[in-house]
Amino acid sequence: MGTAEAFHLHSRIHRLRWFGRSDIWVKRDDELSFGVSGTKLRKHASVIPFLKQQGIGEVVVIGGAHSNNVLSAAQTLTENNIRITPFLLGPPHRKQGNAKLLSLFVDDNEIHWISRSRWADCAALANNYAEKRRSEGIKIFVLPEGAHHPLAVPGALSLLVDILRNEREAGVRFDHIFIDAGTGMVAQSLLAGAAALERKTVFHIVVLAGLFEDFKSGLSQVIQYTGEVMQIFPVSLPDYHLYYPVTARSFGSTNRTILREIQRIAREDGILADPVYSAKLFLTARQTITDKRLEGNILMIHSGGGLALSGFLDHPVFHSTVE
Ligand SMILES: *Cc1c(COP(=O)(O)O)cnc(C)c1O
Repeated sequence: MGTAEAFHLHSRIHRLRWFGRSDIWVKRDDELSFGVSGTKLRKHASVIPFLKQQGIGEVVVIGGAHSNNVLSAAQTLTENNIRITPFLLGPPHRKQGNAKLLSLFVDDNEIHWISRSRWADCAALANNYAEKRRSEGIKIFVLPEGAHHPLAVPGALSLLVDILRNEREAGVRFDHIFIDAGTGMVAQSLLAGAAALERKTVFHIVVLAGLFEDFKSGLSQVIQYTGEVMQIFPVSLPDYHLYYPVTARSFGSTNRTILREIQRIAREDGILADPVYSAKLFLTARQTITDKRLEGNILMIHSGGGLALSGFLDHPVFHSTVE
């Protein structure tokens, strides 16, 4: 199993100045790559060595037209000389942001557009296509939405290992960790890993896609994977709390509050945040820290994905003066 690559992914932590405090930190997984979201870089780092070892020449990648995983895979697969065949929900009315950036990597006629009415069958359609390619002698692999695959577990777990390194190096121990969840795999791996280490940290997870119930069933699945793949057997789960974003709750949706938050983060923290993940995480975290009067050392995981912001720069919020 090619796990070593993922465990070499190191990102720094630094303090934020939120609420005049000096014990709130951010982990800059966004700095792991300019174009690949940090989360996806970690996941792909454990999937790709396996693909290469198996001699895979083509990967079907399933996702939304603006998916960070699809745009990330276009980079990580192409870099490794593996052809990407996207199966995407769409086409979108207007191509912008990630969807536009994807055009740099793949031709429009290589994209298999799946309409919303057929989307539930997308995995089956992708598998049919893969079977056809196999019969033509192509070694092909189907990567599920968000790279939610057992092979991605070691990569997802590398985040926890890297946080432990940050703690050692900075001489700090985090009492609270805030992280966002799409498929939830990275957050679930954090919980599974922390359980194995019997960490007392409290985890605050902002569930951006799906429901709390989906997150919990995903968690059981990841705990099973960590046992099978990594021989890590979690003892008892750490304390964790699930939140829906405080605004723009449905996945991928945005509004003025989110865009204003992006501007605030830029001006006060000097950080680029995207509207789908990090801005919702930061906004929800700020409110939670206030509402629950959280004390002690707090860490935000900034997982990257900033390129998605390119689709929103024409919004009037970004062209007016902040009140
Ligand atoms: C994909 C992604 C996530 C969510 O990761 P999951 O493991 O699917 O929960 C969070 N942040 C960014 C920037 C992402 O691209």
